[in-house]
Amino acid sequence: MEKLSLQEIISAVHGSYGYPADVEISDISTDTRTIKPGSLFIALKGENFDGHNFAAKAMELGAEAVVTERPVEGARCMIVDSTARALLDIAGYYRSKFDVKVVGVTGSVGKTTTKDMIALVVAQKYKTLKTQGNHNNEIGMPQTLFGLDSSYEAAVIEMGMSHQGEISRMSMSCQPDVAVITNIGISHIENLGTQENILKAKLEILDGAAYDAPLILCRDDKLLAGVQLHSDRKVYYYSVSKKDCDVYASGVKTVDNSITFTINYEGGKIAAQINCLGEHNVKNALAAFCVGLALDIPPEDIVKGIAQFKPEGLRQNVTVIDGVTYIVDCYNAAPDSMKASLSVLSQAQAEGKRICVLGDMLELGKNSKTYHRNVGEYVAASKADLLYCFGEDSKCYIEGAEKKGFAKESCRHFESRDDLAAALKEVVAKGDAVLFKGSRGMKLEEVFNALTK
Ligand code: ATP
Ligand code: MG
Repeated sequence: MEKLSLQEIISAVHGSYGYPADVEISDISTDTRTIKPGSLFIALKGENFDGHNFAAKAMELGAEAVVTERPVEGARCMIVDSTARALLDIAGYYRSKFDVKVVGVTGSVGKTTTKDMIALVVAQKYKTLKTQGNHNNEIGMPQTLFGLDSSYEAAVIEMGMSHQGEISRMSMSCQPDVAVITNIGISHIENLGTQENILKAKLEILDGAAYDAPLILCRDDKLLAGVQLHSDRKVYYYSVSKKDCDVYASGVKTVDNSITFTINYEGGKIAAQINCLGEHNVKNALAAFCVGLALDIPPEDIVKGIAQFKPEGLRQNVTVIDGVTYIVDCYNAAPDSMKASLSVLSQAQAEGKRICVLGDMLELGKNSKTYHRNVGEYVAASKADLLYCFGEDSKCYIEGAEKKGFAKESCRHFESRDDLAAALKEVVAKGDAVLFKGSRGMKLEEVFNALTK
């Protein structure tokens, strides 16, 4: 981060500060465990903590001042109405000091994957900052912006939400020059009510976008395909199946653990490759291609960037151990990403059986069981041979699968991860492909670890 004066910060947050303000701060911190001397500490309030309790501690550790919602003994306080808002406002002010192209990415699933692909594309032409990992909320997103300095030419910023209004506030802060929405699923529908409301909340990404910032949308998504904008903003539509789009894929072929395809765009076509599986990743690559076009990056360079992508962490990690292909996708799970992972299992190389090891999809609200049944029906339609489940709602996968004719004896439900791992040890054999997929809280990677250690 480059230095900011307290005076600039006071104007950005409309704060009141009764101390000399001709001081520069060198960092913004929301956590006294990592605070550096010369920082500005922002006292955020969460469900389980109140940063105001750490304001005096921050001063002891060398903070120049603290941003608070009320006076705190022992601290030089800059008082604001909302410290959460102040964090976004300071980040927004800081971002606007730099001449950088900001690409904002949101959507129900595929944000991090698409963000990482986009960053590789944009880095072909510009020095690029990107959201690290999954820091996509109203605390992590501004922290990413504080990573900017005058050497950067671009930034790719992931924005997630669980309530209406969050993307709007983040968009005002990061002011995207290009906006991407990957899809409209049902994650957080318990807060938003309907998919139409989720669409509205995702479209808030335009609230802080430049009036001429292009919008990049997946045409294969029913709700995104119907978006009507009341402006002249350029919209790039991409698709893996429809040709009447700005950018579409053809000749999609799975080769070992990668996919080759042709990207068709206005003015030409070009061969592309991604080193991961699943049609959803072709879509993510097409989104990245559109961003490249919007930023005038030559198509040959765009496909080079896309080919450099590798999934990170527990996201769709494909490994072959003792002749068994394991697809470990235990990072998160919602119906759309479940279906995406099941199609990866169907595409994976397997001379033997294809085994789905599925955990619950958490936080799906009152219709959770129905969503689990739907995924079960999808299992029956996939190339899976066995369905092993863990978690309360995961029983509904079995109900759904059996309803669509999946053999009863091929389905099993387990009460513990240990029992599941033990049963898998009995059935998994050389030549099989095994998918592990469930919400983070289901910790299915522990089953994978027990099985392969
Ligand atoms: P989070 O809400 O946790 O930030 P995210 O939107 O960033 O999630 P990713 O982490 O990129 O999503 O992907 C999570 C999982 O979703 C992947 O492991 C994969 O199974 C699936 N996925 C990725 N891209 C898509 C897509 N375009 N459509 C459907 N599923 C996808
Ligand atoms: Mg993410």
